[in-house]
Amino acid sequence: MGERREASLDRIFDLAIIGGGVNGCGIARDAAGRGNSVFLCEMNDLASGTSSWSTKLVHGGLRYLEYYEFRLVREALIEREILWQIAPHIIRPLRFVLPHHDGLRPTWLLRLGLFLYDHIGGRNLLPPTRTVDLTRDEVGKPLIPNRYTRGFEYSDCFVDDARLVVLTARDAADRGAEIRTRSRAVEIKQGDGIWRVTVENTFSGERSTVQARVLVNAGGPWVEQVLASGAGVNARAKVRLVQGSHIVVRKLYAHDRAYMFQNSDGRIVFAIPYQDDFTLIGTTDRDYDGDPAKVKASTEEIKYLCDSVSEYLAKPVSPEDVVWTYAGVRPLYDDGASEAKAATRDYVFELDTPGGAPLLSIYGGKITTYRRLAEEALERLAPYLRSAKAREGWTAKSPLPGGDLDVSAIAALSAELVRGYPFLSPAHANRLAHAYGTRAGKLLGNAKSMADLGQAFGATLTEREVRYLMSVEWACTAEDIVWRRSKLGLRLSPAEIAAIDDWISAHHAASGRPLLEAGGRT
Ligand SMILES: Cc1cc2nc3c(=O)[nH]c(=O)nc-3n(C[C@H](O)[C@H](O)[C@H](O)COP(=O)(O)OP(=O)(O)OC[C@H]3O[C@@H](n4cnc5c(N)ncnc54)[C@H](O)[C@@H]3O)c2cc1C
Repeated sequence: MGERREASLDRIFDLAIIGGGVNGCGIARDAAGRGNSVFLCEMNDLASGTSSWSTKLVHGGLRYLEYYEFRLVREALIEREILWQIAPHIIRPLRFVLPHHDGLRPTWLLRLGLFLYDHIGGRNLLPPTRTVDLTRDEVGKPLIPNRYTRGFEYSDCFVDDARLVVLTARDAADRGAEIRTRSRAVEIKQGDGIWRVTVENTFSGERSTVQARVLVNAGGPWVEQVLASGAGVNARAKVRLVQGSHIVVRKLYAHDRAYMFQNSDGRIVFAIPYQDDFTLIGTTDRDYDGDPAKVKASTEEIKYLCDSVSEYLAKPVSPEDVVWTYAGVRPLYDDGASEAKAATRDYVFELDTPGGAPLLSIYGGKITTYRRLAEEALERLAPYLRSAKAREGWTAKSPLPGGDLDVSAIAALSAELVRGYPFLSPAHANRLAHAYGTRAGKLLGNAKSMADLGQAFGATLTEREVRYLMSVEWACTAEDIVWRRSKLGLRLSPAEIAAIDDWISAHHAASGRPLLEAGGRT
């Protein structure tokens, strides 16, 4: 560990946030946009916790209706179209086919659920539910013949979850927030109504102290560990860690819709078209008591997911078909439900004011509701913040970086990139349009040829993009770039990924600058 160094103790932030997942970044963005001074520390990379391991649905959660979670479903349904409109480059509408199966949920129950789904959450842009004749419609073709004849098709949205987090952090920084990644909060202390957070740089071991009037614990699965690092803070609520795993296989079918398959154990499994050439299958639900950073898809889970979709698909899926797996841990509020699948997905706040200094801890939540969660967090903290009420609700109308375009304009943006940069292949331009939206031009600058984009790392990743991700989006390693800023890891070989790390090391050795140089305003 490096020398212990106290940073300037003069500055007192209005708000310090521990955790750079979707919830921490969402609160940082909203608070900064309302005029508060904001500090956020993330111990690893942004979205390296649960927020990049989700099923990536911006959805109401049809199955939560069975648990009478009407408040959550309504809020989430309303958020679908709000989020789509502020980030149409990284969020897209997706139709889900629900094949009906005698012996599972009865048709009347599905019809009722889908009716509520269509009507309780302000659906204006997304198309409504329809019934499908699976014997005639193309969505019936990949299914086992003659077994599934009727189904329903309904709307939700799909999001690049890790990019949602990074763009939210980028917007927060553009509005003045200080975002420090690779910075672990190792101790929290309060005195004289002020929080002092000791932050350790995980690359150098250097420590510094940050002061704030209000502290938010958005540590996700680590929420209780963050509380344990503080004296005099008593956690009343408990977190329930529930593992969910996914598998990725080569594209299973040609059409662009997803499936929602009901299992005989009462659970549901999604099969979703993913990254053009793949299908994403998930998820599982099982209690987890290990280190959240070490969670991995188990052999049984992989088999369970393969078996679940093979109950429906004409061409069965087996573990040998799996090209990638990932797993995450849901940091759910422990409501005492007996089964993991039944534990509430709603969020709960716990507000403590030891010695008068407020600390808000977050339990549960969903990617879908992160913007509303941030608004509610700031409402709870309003008595302690100078500018909590100012610009209330602004995040619903203000696009995320690159998202300042109409929901229907993404294909046109892609075509415009090909016209402006004719050396890009349509697939390359499309990837950049979906990742960076209107900021893709900023990344490409005045390039006139592929050579102008510098070293090519494979799968359309170039030095220009790597530099952009490092200087604007806090990327520090190849893993950040190929598994969170993009999913190019699905297309790059281990040697190609290692070459990116080599380039990063050489680049930094040559520049003499520290790895963490993003920040500032763009
Ligand atoms: C399998 C699965 C599927 C899901 N599917 C969906 C879905 O389809 N749609 C949906 O809406 N939601 C979904 N969710 C839920 C959603 O992913 C989570 O609710 C959400 O990502 C939680 O975000 P968070 O910011 O609270 O936690 P995290 O993303 O885990 O963020 C917490 C961050 O805090 C950091 N941290 C912890 N301790 C410290 C410290 N001491 N110092 C500094 N940093 C620290 C961690 O490194 C981490 O990055 C799913 C979840 C799982 C697991």
